[in-house]
Amino acid sequence: MAWLRIDDRMPRSAKLMGLTDRVKWAYVASMCYASEEETDGAIPSGVQREMGWTRVRKDLIEAGLWHEKPCGEGACQETERQREKLAKGGHVVHDYLEYNPTHEELEEKRAKARDRMAENRGKRAAKSSDVRDTFARTSGEVPAKFEESSPYPPSPSPSPDQRSDPERAYARMGAGAESERVSEPARGTRPAHMGSWTADDLENAPVDPSDLPESR
Ligand SMILES: [Zn+2]
Repeated sequence: MAWLRIDDRMPRSAKLMGLTDRVKWAYVASMCYASEEETDGAIPSGVQREMGWTRVRKDLIEAGLWHEKPCGEGACQETERQREKLAKGGHVVHDYLEYNPTHEELEEKRAKARDRMAENRGKRAAKSSDVRDTFARTSGEVPAKFEESSPYPPSPSPSPDQRSDPERAYARMGAGAESERVSEPARGTRPAHMGSWTADDLENAPVDPSDLPESR
């Protein structure tokens, strides 16, 4: 489905004055046909017979609404599409292309729309593969990051499945978060050489009052 554009002054146009409603309707319907079939305004003889327009054809031609050939005024020019459609004879609607796009223009428009859609699909596909990559990377990093901030000294003989056991990893991460909260008040007092502390270390750590932040 598409839309046909008609000059809104058409009903009052001098060309239509004195024509019967039947002729006027055939004129409008012929433009609808040209739009639907993208004929650039061509109305093939076969279609004229089928639609009963052969009886009003003479009136349309005399009124200057249909031509045997485009008149060459303004947009009323012959196109390849018209020639193709009128291979077996027919007429063209005067000025159809003044208000309506050619078949070629519509094809270009559709091609551009297809390109845009393909581009958008490509972007969406790239985005979702990015998400997959990030997820894979991040989940791979979890154990490594966790080891970094572990409050426990590294076990001398780590069990081989420790890194890949998610439940254990969660438990250990929880412990890490806990100890971070515990160490919060002592932030800034930890000497560099002590490295990572455990919660127990914190409990027993001797605090040098001069290391504490100044009270305000
Ligand atoms: Zn014309």
